[in-house]
Amino acid sequence: MLLLLPTTTYRAPDFLAAARKLGVDVTVASEEPSTLEGVNPAGLLTLDLGDPEECARKALEFSLRHPISAVVGVDEETSVAAAEIASALGLPHNPRGAAEAARNKALMRKALSAAGVPCPRHSVFDVDEGPAGAARRSRYPCVLKPTFLSGSRGVIRADDEPEFVAAWTRIARILREPDVRRKGGAAANEILVEDFVPGVEVAVEGLLREGELEVLAVFDKPDPLPGPFFEETIYVTPSRLSDDAQRAIADVTARGCRALGLVDGPVHAELRHNDLGPWLIELAARSIGGLCSRTLRFGAGMSLEELILRHALGMELGGSQRDPRAAGVMMIPVPAAGRLVRVEGLDAARAVPNIEEVTITARPGQTLVPLPEGSRYPGFLFSRAETPSRAEAALREAHARLRFIIVAPGS
Ligand code: ADP
Ligand code: CA
Ligand code: CA
Repeated sequence: MLLLLPTTTYRAPDFLAAARKLGVDVTVASEEPSTLEGVNPAGLLTLDLGDPEECARKALEFSLRHPISAVVGVDEETSVAAAEIASALGLPHNPRGAAEAARNKALMRKALSAAGVPCPRHSVFDVDEGPAGAARRSRYPCVLKPTFLSGSRGVIRADDEPEFVAAWTRIARILREPDVRRKGGAAANEILVEDFVPGVEVAVEGLLREGELEVLAVFDKPDPLPGPFFEETIYVTPSRLSDDAQRAIADVTARGCRALGLVDGPVHAELRHNDLGPWLIELAARSIGGLCSRTLRFGAGMSLEELILRHALGMELGGSQRDPRAAGVMMIPVPAAGRLVRVEGLDAARAVPNIEEVTITARPGQTLVPLPEGSRYPGFLFSRAETPSRAEAALREAHARLRFIIVAPGS
């Protein structure tokens, strides 16, 4: 199996653990040449994940020496390269155009609107044209965002023209950062403006097989997300929405997949639900991000990653029913801008009943950047309980026991 692992991903350990459990031979493809490459030539492959054709060519060449029976991209940055490689190797895959539409919010909105999938009305602007005209032509409240970033980075609500101009200016600054420009290419000139959709928000985790969507889990996001910034915090599954609402959510997600042309592998969707039903905010050709998949367990103790690898290898999934207990995760919000000195209260947080894991991913000395500019969480809390409300309460209690000691940057 060829596993595409960008160097910045949180997802590596969980995918590697699943591969180990399945006993499958793994080749890790990453952007940076590893010093280990010479030692184990079958285990590592250096690929420029931003150049899908080159990836496909190198992977094909590699497969002549080391046959590859499955390709898995672990996140959004690798989905287009994964599609191109799978196509070159004759393996099941999403069409390249579908993977591209799922990665760019402007292409995605265009495809969803054309297919009549409920999603906010939108316009795309060139950042160089400046905010004044766009602000006059927009409806309020609206949401401004870059088309290719993630984790709510640069996503800002505006209620009137002055707020629009301020949000635009702030996004333009993010789009000028060198790493962002490099990642975005032409998309780094785009600002997407959409109607603000009120309502509760859910995330859907699914698996596509020959175009058929199986919903693996629906997560509620119990914290209201009114803006102006949209910090993801708590996800809890199973959803407490009615069966009817959840059916409608699954239906809109499946229609979204068809509209983009996605047919194979994991999908992760975010929707808002209000009096008019579900609205698709985002649909990605990947599994849930960060360490959040640790909330999920299927059949007899299968992880989401194992399920994804089994699917890619054409193996039996053997019961993709989710463990019936409720589970939750909190992506710990950045408490303040500055340099992290230490985190206190870890033992107290771990001692909260129903808390399963407290993981601090930020290192002492690391600079923490809050939204809308920031993009990494300092850590994750996990809970498991008999009911969703208990899983949620445990996360809030554990979070209240943590103290982040942060000093001003440079001090
Ligand atoms: P990202 O790829 O960074 O996650 P999203 O487009 O999913 O970007 O936006 C992040 C969050 O911002 C969403 O989960 C949602 O809470 C909020 N949001 C984005 N667009 C809208 C919208 N049009 N109306 C209401 N909320 C929105
Ligand atoms: Ca996203
Ligand atoms: Ca999102």
